Formats: sequence, C-alpha cells, structure tokens
Amino acid sequence: MVVEVIINSNVKNLNKTFDYNVPAEFAGTICVGKRVMVPFGRNKSLEEGFVVGIKESSEFATKNIERIEEGFELTQDNINLAKLMARRYFCNISDCIKLMLPPGTTTKKIENRVKEKNMNFVFLKKDFEDIENDIENKKIKSEKQIRVLKFLKDNDGILKTDLEIFSDTSSNIIKTLEKNGYIEIIEKAVERNPFINKNVLKTEKLKLNQEQEIAFNMINEKIENNQFEEFLLYGVTGSGKTEVYLQLIEKVLIKGKRAIVLVPEISLTPQMVDRFIARFGQEKIAVLHSKLSVGERYDQWQNIKQKKASIIIGARSAIFAPIEDLGIIIIDEEHDSSYKSDMTPRYNAKDLSRYIAKQNNIPLVLGSATPDITTYYKAQNCDITLLELNKRANNANLPEVEIVDLRDELASGNKSMLSKKLYTEIEKNLEAKKQTILFLNRRGYSTFVICRDCGYTAKCKNCDITLTYHIRENKLKCHYCGFEQNNLSVCPECNSSNIRYFGTGTQKLEAEINKLFPQATTIRMDIDTVTKKNSHEEILNHFKNENLDILIGTQMVVKGHHFPNVTLVGVIAADSSLYMEDYRATERTFQILTQVAGRAGRENLPGKVIIQTYNPDNFSIECAKAQDYDTFYNGEINLRKELKYPPFCDIIVIGINGENKQEVIEISNKVYNNIKKINNSLPIIKPMPSPIEKVKNRYRWRMVIKTKLNQNIIDIINIAIEKIKLKNTRIVVDVNPTSMM
Ligand code: ADP
Ligand code: ZN
Ligand code: ZN
Repeated sequence: MVVEVIINSNVKNLNKTFDYNVPAEFAGTICVGKRVMVPFGRNKSLEEGFVVGIKESSEFATKNIERIEEGFELTQDNINLAKLMARRYFCNISDCIKLMLPPGTTTKKIENRVKEKNMNFVFLKKDFEDIENDIENKKIKSEKQIRVLKFLKDNDGILKTDLEIFSDTSSNIIKTLEKNGYIEIIEKAVERNPFINKNVLKTEKLKLNQEQEIAFNMINEKIENNQFEEFLLYGVTGSGKTEVYLQLIEKVLIKGKRAIVLVPEISLTPQMVDRFIARFGQEKIAVLHSKLSVGERYDQWQNIKQKKASIIIGARSAIFAPIEDLGIIIIDEEHDSSYKSDMTPRYNAKDLSRYIAKQNNIPLVLGSATPDITTYYKAQNCDITLLELNKRANNANLPEVEIVDLRDELASGNKSMLSKKLYTEIEKNLEAKKQTILFLNRRGYSTFVICRDCGYTAKCKNCDITLTYHIRENKLKCHYCGFEQNNLSVCPECNSSNIRYFGTGTQKLEAEINKLFPQATTIRMDIDTVTKKNSHEEILNHFKNENLDILIGTQMVVKGHHFPNVTLVGVIAADSSLYMEDYRATERTFQILTQVAGRAGRENLPGKVIIQTYNPDNFSIECAKAQDYDTFYNGEINLRKELKYPPFCDIIVIGINGENKQEVIEISNKVYNNIKKINNSLPIIKPMPSPIEKVKNRYRWRMVIKTKLNQNIIDIINIAIEKIKLKNTRIVVDVNPTSMM
C-alpha cells in the first residue's frame, strides 16, 4: 500500500504530494487525513505530513512512513478545501492546512494540561529582531530553543505550563533560555476567558416585527429544506438584525445542527458574545479569537470538536473550526475589510463561507447597515436575496449630522483642530454631563517632521515611509515596521534647528483637548494605548462605567459598541481616507462616517454628529450626512462601471518582494513574460515599483491584471509562477487586496 502525503512545512512550491510506502504494521490504522512523520529530502529529522490519498502502488514511492501521530486527523472536507484554497489563493496546501489544525504545535501531552491554574507566565525579553540576529549569527544553535522562541513570538505572555505543552518543550530548555536572557518568567494573577461571563441574565425571544418576520421566514425555509441560498440582511444599526440571527440559530439547534457566526475581530466583545450566551446559555457557545491565549483557544477548539459547543462566534479564521452538522453561516458587518486575510493564505472568508454553505446545503446570511458595494450589486442582480429592515427596532431616532467646512474656518483665522461649531458643542455637552466621542483616523502626534531650511524629512531606515512623531516617548516611529529613533533636535542634513511638525494625530488631539477643556476627563484609544490583552475592552469599559467626558480615538472607536450616554460625535478630519490610492477610498469613507455617526444617540437621548472636512461637497461625505446608502450606492456603482473596478472586474496584484532589488526586478520580469507567453491578450500592466517601494528592508515590485477572475486566469497565474526558482524573494498574488499600497 502507498499513501500520498502533503508535507506540512514551509518549503516553497510544495504543492505536490509525495508517495510513501506503508509498512505492514500501519496497514490497519492508516487512512486519509492521518498525521504522519516521514523522511524527506536530505534532512536528518523527520518531517510532518498529512495523508491525502491512498493507492495500491507507485513507482515513485521509495521511502516508508516512519510513524502515525495520533490525536488529530484532517477530514476529507478539510483536504478538499485546502487543495481548492491553494490554487485559488496561489499558496501552499500546507499553509491552508495550518488554519485547520488545533491550536498549538503538538497534541501529545495535552491530557496532562494544567487548566490555567499555574501562575507563571513566560515573556520574550528581547526584541524578536535581535533574537533573529542571534539565530543567524549562530549565538543560538539549538533547534529546540529556536522553536520555543519562535513560538513565543506569536504567544508572548503564555502560561509556562502551556508553553511546555503547546511548543512541545521541556522545563530545562525554558530554564536555559531564561538564564541566557532571552525570556523572563513572571508570576501573575490568572485571567479567565474574558468572553465567557458566568452571570448573564437569560433573555427570551422577542416578538419579531413585520420586516424581521419576513426575513426570518425566508431564511428559515432554507434551514428547514436543507438548501443553500445567500441572503443579504440590510438594515441600519439597531434595526434588529441580531434578533433575527438569534431566532434563526434557535431553529438550527432544534434541528440538531450548529451555527457559525463571523464577526469583525474588533467587534468581537464580551457584550456582543453575552447576547448569545443570554439566549442559549454559556455551554453552547465557543469563541475563537486571536486575542485568546493558545490554551484558551485550544479549549474552545476542543469544545467544538467534541460537539459540546453548537454556536461558534469568531473572527474570520473561525470558518475553519472543526465543525460538522453545520446548519447556518452568519457573517455580521459583512462589509468589514477584516474578512479578507492580508497574510498568506490571502483568502476571503466570505467566499469560503459561500463554498462551505453550498457544500452543506445551508443558508449563508450576510448582515450590514452599509453593505459592501459588490455584495449589494449582487443583491440588485438577484445573485443574493435581499432582505431589508428599514426601521430601528427600538424606535430610536437617527442622529442629526452637520458638516463644517474647514476652509471657512481657516479663512476666518481659526487654525486649531476644532471648528467653532465643534468647540461649542463639546462645551455644551460637557455642561449637560453627556459624553463625547472624537474620531481621527491617524495616530501619533505629528504625521511628519520636516526641516524648514533644507526640506529634509525624517524617513524610516527600513521603509519608504516618513516617520511619525510620538510626543510621550519623544520618538519618531515607523507605523509599518515599528522602527523608532530619537526625535530630531537639529536637522541631520544641514544642522538647522528650525524643525517643523506637520499633520495631526490622536496624541496631538488629546493634548489640544486637555488644553482647551482642562476640566474634562479624557481617554484615548488607538494602537498605542491598546497593547495588553483586553485593554481595548478596558478602555471602553472605563469610558462607559466611569462616565468619562471624552473618548478620543482612531477607527477602533467606530465599531459596534453601545454607549447610551454618548450624544455628540465629532469627526476631526473626514478627508484622510479619501486620499488613499485605492478604488475603495470613497466606500471606506462612507462606511466609516456612517458608522461613527451611528455611535451618537443610540437610546432615548437625541444625538448630534459634526463632520469637519475640506471637501464638504464630496459625494461620500454628503451621502454619509444624509445617512443615505442607496444614493451612495447608485453613484458609486456607476463610477465603478465606468472605471472598470470591482464588481465589474477583479484587481489581481502579483507582488514580488525581496532584499535584493535586482533580483526582485528580474523575477518580476520573468513572471510577466511567463504570463505573456501563455496568454498575450490579458490586460496586464508591466511590473513597476509598489507605491511604497520598500518595507522592512524588502523591495516591493508588482504587476496588476484588471480582469474578471475565473478558472482560466487562476490556471494561467499558477502556471506562470510555479516554475520560478526562488531563494529569498517571494511572489505574493492577492486578488482585490485590502490595501493597494
Ligand atoms: P442590530 O443587530 O441590527 O444592530 P439588534 O438586534 O441589536 O439590531 O436590535 C436593536 C435593539 O432593538 C436591541 O435592544 C433589541 O433587543 C431590540 N429589538 C430587536 N428586535 C426587536 C423586536 N422585534 N421587538 C422589540 N425590540 C427589538
Ligand atoms: Zn535641514
Ligand atoms: Zn519602517
């Protein structure tokens, strides 16, 4: 007997299977999906792989499988999905399989696992870059130590006992690493899974209003009849979408099936999860989320695998949860860009959900107040069934939105970040003891630093990006790679001390607010203040529970939170997202502004929104002011059609990156020529540098194909890149990428 094995390693271009003989002793236990250890190439150590096929014999099988690893096996569905993804997303099958494996690298010692009782946590003590240097310079040689350090990079602050189990290591190795100064062990109080709250009051289902009822019946019919259909549940925030989800899930559970609910990572808060717990009880819910520790993730994963949990709530990768008997997939806030992965494999969870829903003959429900233009287009063309909720279920009114033209402010001599109007409204709101949210989509203090005498601007040494000034640490930081340096006191080019700071970020806004309203309590939320686990949540709870006056933040403040006492929202600069070099710039602006506006006046209190902008006549800003999605959609879809942007075609970006610029250019040309050779008529734009040509010391070139992605195009690209030999340079193909930079 011979098995076909996929090698589960990072070796490039390993999208083929390898044949191995099965020794007689394994003949009874081997089957498709088993995890096996096999000799591979010239390596002395064994490689891990998965059996994806079985056959009688093969002339290529020269080696034996060495052992079968018990504990976990892939299903045939997993294997099919991984194969499909590898081709569709131009990556290795093993990269896709990784998404389906249980958290942690081994399942061997799991039974002995101490459940979060031990109090020792392990942290990296050095920057990972320094560690990588030490590995390169052979200061660290032990494979076992390197494995632990790499594992810690993604799981910093893990319980020591969990580190031993999940990275398959021993206490001795950890001790050595501690002695050599790479890690430190700190005793801390154990946090319990923040998503599972023991004391949630049970809720009963509500009587649906007419619109909800229609939506519910249409979808429920598909649940009852085991049929695939894709639905768009389009309704403003508060129109009762979640209540519809809850009642659909109830039906699914009654049928003995289970549900997946995908939520944007940032909206996946304990309050959000509590609504599901309140209806169905805690035991039925599993939460999958990147902020959970590997141990917590493992527990959740097991609850799903062992069929204890029937409702899986998670960010995009929860679509790979080990779930059978699926009855429905729900994707909330379906327009959110986090459903598209920006790392290999660059999959889109919406597309995969559609595939999985079809396979399982179940409905797929997309919910949004501001649907993705492509989704709404499909709904208009009847590829997706449109269900509308037009009224707010609890009858709260939409907030009043006002636009302030910043050009007028400048003309009247107001150079501050706040217009007179916004200033007055904040003042009034403070007096009324109501809360305010101020939104600015840029962090740091000043966005760039320039010498007034010679024009020198401070740039990152690793990236083609200007550095942002951070006042608290008095440092200049790169927002792409994390590089930082001391602030300039004199210009390194001409020694002038005439340094000027341009642009504003949240730090500067906070400083200005504290100066203008010294009596107000403020709190800031952006990547710089959100670091520790939960801290995002802590900041919001702090703001809400202590009734602080003003929350200042980036995009993070926009998503799905509920603040009953917030009656004023100020958008400091609505223009920043308009200048992105991206066909979705206006769509993002509209979505962000509509969502920010939705934060004001969510209960009985009337809300007010002030949008400051230099482009008051901009179409997306006008539509956001009117909270008018339909008008926005109609304008935008015509533009997309004219310019040939999605949904009328796909933007396929083939990116080449590497440390050696010459090699990057050579490989770019090779890919280009290969594609031209296979099909000379494809609309492909010649290789050129990416808008940001260097990031983290890697040069980035790319070519763009603007065409509708189909099987033929997928094949052409796969063939064109398959044969190219790569050392340090990488080829990354991304279809409609989240960022065009
Ligand atoms: P969405 O998910 O669209 O933002 P929710 O489902 O959260 O909307 O509903 C908003 C509010 O209205 C919630 O407080 C919810 O309990 C309430 N609600 C939803 N449906 C109904 C209904 N049929 N009758 C009364 N209240 C409802
Ligand atoms: Zn200078
Ligand atoms: Zn950088």
